[in-house]
Amino acid sequence: MVRIDLHTHSLASDGTQTPTELVVAARAAGLDVLAITDHDTAEGWPEAVTAAEECGLELVRGMEISTRHRGDGVHLLAYLPDPEHPGLAEELRRILDGRSSRVPAILERLRGLGSAIGIDDVRRANPDTPATGRPHVADALVALGEVADRDEAFELYLGEGRPAYVDRYAAPTIEMIGLVEQAGGVSVVAHPWGRHGPANLAAAELAALADAGLSGIEVDHEDHGPDVRDQLRGIARDLGLVATGSSDHHGTGKAGHGLGCNTTAPEEYERLLELAAAASKRSGRTTPDVIR
Ligand code: AMP
Ligand code: ZN
Ligand code: FE
Ligand code: FE
Repeated sequence: MVRIDLHTHSLASDGTQTPTELVVAARAAGLDVLAITDHDTAEGWPEAVTAAEECGLELVRGMEISTRHRGDGVHLLAYLPDPEHPGLAEELRRILDGRSSRVPAILERLRGLGSAIGIDDVRRANPDTPATGRPHVADALVALGEVADRDEAFELYLGEGRPAYVDRYAAPTIEMIGLVEQAGGVSVVAHPWGRHGPANLAAAELAALADAGLSGIEVDHEDHGPDVRDQLRGIARDLGLVATGSSDHHGTGKAGHGLGCNTTAPEEYERLLELAAAASKRSGRTTPDVIR
């Protein structure tokens, strides 16, 4: 049985493994296909490709893009887009700028709450990522001994509605689905009913995203219980969308998301690749190795 995990993070965003370590760990976990999907960046791709070639793992180049639909955050997994497509690149730049510019605001709030945190503490937590996020601020608080772990940092300070929460720019979801397609890739909505439940992205909204060109729904995810998975699988079937499953692995940064804890069925993966191949062809890309 081919084992496929289509959603993982490295140190290029808020995972805790280098892309090489991630690929090696995926192999060791018995995976045959791995997608690297760092937040808002393709920075980890080249290293991951080299590592995957060396250990015989099939690698899907992806990213998890920060978007917003009707006021709610939507994480959009984009597989196999050309990250240098001008429209996509410009929007990713805007998102990354939004990430960077909110960090000082978060730190100011934390200092107002008595923390000793400074920008260098955050940089030290991950000097290499272009996609600084709240998990890096959390890691800095852990290093300072002010919280026990990332979870506590989110609970006390960084989570939505907590005192050091600061919003940032996210791209309109429907617009981003179009950009990903123009860039020769396909979009899958990540953990649609993960943190907030069906209220956020109800069936009708998933249908609207499907009309806009969405290719799939991440059904099997740790944040989804059995009932939610059944419902989402039904919606995917009704809308003709691919149903994926994945770990959303963040190394040691997120407990209970071990590599391969959820997987994607081979026939669903093949459908996704067919859609990506079609999008790539339509986009007029000449890059020879778009797929895999
Ligand atoms: P940001 O990218 O700055 O908006 O931070 C959001 C990221 O933080 C998400 O993608 C999750 O990976 C991570 N995250 C959210 N809540 C928690 C939590 N309670 N513990 C650890 N990581 C979390
Ligand atoms: Zn993350
Ligand atoms: Fe996510
Ligand atoms: Fe993720």
